[in-house]
Amino acid sequence: MHASTTEVPNLAAYDVILVNSSGGKDSQAMLDEVCTLAEATGVLDRITVLHCALGHVEWPGTSELARKQAEHYGVRYEQRHREQGQLLDQVRRRGRWPSAAARYCTSDQKRGPARKLITQLVAELGDLGRPARVLNCMGLRAEESRARLKKASLSRDEAASSGRRTVDTWLPIHDWTETQVWQRIRTSGVPYHPAYDQGMTRLSCSLCVLASRADLVRAAQLRPELAAEYADLEAEIGHRFRNDMSMAEIIAAAEHHPTSEHTEETATIELGQGELWWPRSERQTDRYGTVFLLTGPDAEDYVSFENAPVGQPGRLVAVVVETRRSGHCGDIARSLAPVTPMVGEEITLGAGRLFTDTDADLGVPTAVGLAPDDHRNTDWLDPRALYCCHSQTVRLELRIGSQANGCARDSTSRAA
Ligand code: SF4
Repeated sequence: MHASTTEVPNLAAYDVILVNSSGGKDSQAMLDEVCTLAEATGVLDRITVLHCALGHVEWPGTSELARKQAEHYGVRYEQRHREQGQLLDQVRRRGRWPSAAARYCTSDQKRGPARKLITQLVAELGDLGRPARVLNCMGLRAEESRARLKKASLSRDEAASSGRRTVDTWLPIHDWTETQVWQRIRTSGVPYHPAYDQGMTRLSCSLCVLASRADLVRAAQLRPELAAEYADLEAEIGHRFRNDMSMAEIIAAAEHHPTSEHTEETATIELGQGELWWPRSERQTDRYGTVFLLTGPDAEDYVSFENAPVGQPGRLVAVVVETRRSGHCGDIARSLAPVTPMVGEEITLGAGRLFTDTDADLGVPTAVGLAPDDHRNTDWLDPRALYCCHSQTVRLELRIGSQANGCARDSTSRAA
């Protein structure tokens, strides 16, 4: 059972409970949590699930799945889309892709339609003799980014409130880990989107401007025609899909890697155990290429990688042995903050060819990394996965036989 520290409001105090669902894993786990609590409170009939359909840029079957998930719990389902045009129309008109700083896609494609539905649902209540109370539920999790970490799990949405309604925003799974999300989905028995089993870690837009490099490369493999459409638009408007990588580069990487990403792993080589850190220069250069392990009573001794199989291709996995809170400030430019994983989690740090760096003073290899085979200069390991491991005691393993691009987190914890 999940011991949550997220604030839980009295659901019976609300006239409308709106659950925003992308159809993805976090929305799915949140829906299960909200419906479970609402059923216990006797207010399941106040729930409406809203899915904002993104058209052909979202994973095929997402809208149907979101509807099915709502039907499973017997709650009302509403689907909306932006009436003034879909995402790529917006990009063409603006001449710029959205970004973390200018996330117009979310406000226009999701927040706007949600506001309109709230207005409709409140109107349906008729005259209550007081402002209607609306609880707007979203599946954001703190570990996803620094910005999300800072959000309160329950807050008044003043901009959406008016004389006719008060709107509170609730993040029911704010403090959940990804493992907890998958555990809840497995327990619920409700179907989840097949893109996860094809190597994706997020859903919604197949090619999201905020996705990890590995997700983008994998998505370009799974949906080459959509990636080509993005690349054409990129060329047309003369603005890169992202500062750090163009869609053309993503397609090149997708074509370079074999599409059968998750081939069977034939061997595991244990590299060492200790507290995981990485040299400061890796963050400063954005290479994120090597890590080191500290051991001993005060975690002051380096683990040596003398016997590591240098040159061997494979997947670098951190198996979490012991956890603690990391004091790392994170990567502010990327909105990445360290999060504490669960003991037993298996976190894929990356895939490539193993190399070691020798400490000049000690004369032994104390850092280990994987060099990718696509000659990129940044993100040799997955920064998001690294910040799930910083300061944690892990057993580092090289898993051989996998062609995975490698950033899927804890595939063993997914629903069977
Ligand atoms: S999934 Fe990504 S690109 Fe799509 S609307 Fe959301 S933030 Fe924007």
